[in-house]
Amino acid sequence: MKAEHYVGGMFRSDGPAFPLIAPADGTELGTVPEATREVVDDAVAAARSALKGPWGATSAEERAAALRRVADGIQARFEEFVDAEVADTGRPRAFAETVDVPRAVGNFRAYADLLYGRPERAYTTRVPGWSSGTGEALNYTVRRPLGVVAVVSPWNLPLLLSTWKIAPALACGNAVVAKPSEETPSTATLLARVIDEAGLPAGVFNVVHGHGPGAAGEFLTGHPGVDAIAFTGESATGAAIMRNAADHVTPVSFELGGKNPALVFSDADLEAAVDGTVRSSFTHSGQICLCTERVYVERPVFEEFVARLGERARALDGYGPMISAGHRDKVLSHLRLAREEGAEIVAGGGAPRFGDARDGGFHVEPTVLTGLPETARAVREEIFGPVCHVAPFDTEDEALALANDSRYGLAATVWTRDLSRAHRVAPRVETGIVWVNCWNLRDLRTPFGGVKASGIGREGGEYSLDFFSEPVNVCVQI
Ligand code: NAD
Repeated sequence: MKAEHYVGGMFRSDGPAFPLIAPADGTELGTVPEATREVVDDAVAAARSALKGPWGATSAEERAAALRRVADGIQARFEEFVDAEVADTGRPRAFAETVDVPRAVGNFRAYADLLYGRPERAYTTRVPGWSSGTGEALNYTVRRPLGVVAVVSPWNLPLLLSTWKIAPALACGNAVVAKPSEETPSTATLLARVIDEAGLPAGVFNVVHGHGPGAAGEFLTGHPGVDAIAFTGESATGAAIMRNAADHVTPVSFELGGKNPALVFSDADLEAAVDGTVRSSFTHSGQICLCTERVYVERPVFEEFVARLGERARALDGYGPMISAGHRDKVLSHLRLAREEGAEIVAGGGAPRFGDARDGGFHVEPTVLTGLPETARAVREEIFGPVCHVAPFDTEDEALALANDSRYGLAATVWTRDLSRAHRVAPRVETGIVWVNCWNLRDLRTPFGGVKASGIGREGGEYSLDFFSEPVNVCVQI
């Protein structure tokens, strides 16, 4: 797979190249062109001129048809997308086959459907004037696209998360410049091929590759020609982008980091809670923003829960590598620090040895920790690896206080069979998403996003369409 920029309907590879390393075994997969400021300028200019062309005048129906052609195009190249995602991320093939690629298809289909659900969401009201003498007026609202939208995405779910923004942005009639993560450029290049084949006008969708700070990401998000920024990544990066965007008062939609809690009450189905926590802490080796890193368990079932979770973590196999040597080292340094801060290692705790090619890759064992104070860095900071810390609690209020004592607020999971407790606790957890007796069960129409340092705004269904379009009030005096 050759990573290329896609600008104004043309593929190009100018700019210095950097190597793309396979996280599964450390081999070089190829090279990636680093977009210069000139490449980014060209992409933004191409997007702007596409808005002035036929794309700017398309109907919702035409855009829905275009999104369906893109969905069909991804489906037609299903295996290529799976191969590219597996090579770039090192994730298990089944994950790419059942999550990444089907969800990318689903993202385009969902927004094509949603466009039919609300043709242009034109609310019309005819109201008497507010003050005497102004008469009656007809008010209606039209939604117009924002313009040129920058989509900056991370490496953990490269295709899924970028299309989760690209599809609604295009649905609303915007033009997009996407900058995928430098670690995972391949599916974005393939998506450009699909969009090219689907016949979207040149410049409606563009891809620029490269790094973030002082590079393509910064050039794009600080660009005066960009009308909105949709970003998923670390909270610190979100803050840097916000500073960069401030000069142009560019609106932002942010999906950022998390330190997600799970609350396990003693009335829970313990088997389901253990099973759910294995999934929520170790899926994709913990490299999903929604993964659980803090587990609070009611004291009567604490010992049993820890024993069962540890046993399951030790038995896990094929969990996939960290994205890079740098990220593996960061996760291992968190584990070293946790030991120094007094953690008991129930399972895992280091880098595994396989005795085969995987030893060249960047793996970390699924790790269960206990015994840390709530002030420990492993309990406070996002690790973004296969690591969770389990601590006991005694009362519902204490559980909530522990869960909410975090600068992050993305997602939480509550395990209980007590219906009243579930409904009492869930709204009091300070996160954007609360799952009860499940994890990562997603309906694409529901609001998705975080509070506190975990994000700004919501994605999903109407929420994304609201961000990617501007409501304009037209008031006609009668
Ligand atoms: P990251 O912030 O390092 O990078 C994300 C993207 O931003 C990349 O494309 C990168 O090149 C770019 N970037 C970096 N610095 C930049 C800058 N100064 N200006 C402009 N662009 C810049 O994140 P990552 O390591 O790729 O991804 C992991 C992080 O993403 C974790 O914190 C995780 O929690 C978060 N995440 C959040 C969600 C969510 O929905 N809330 C989903 C997935 C991942």
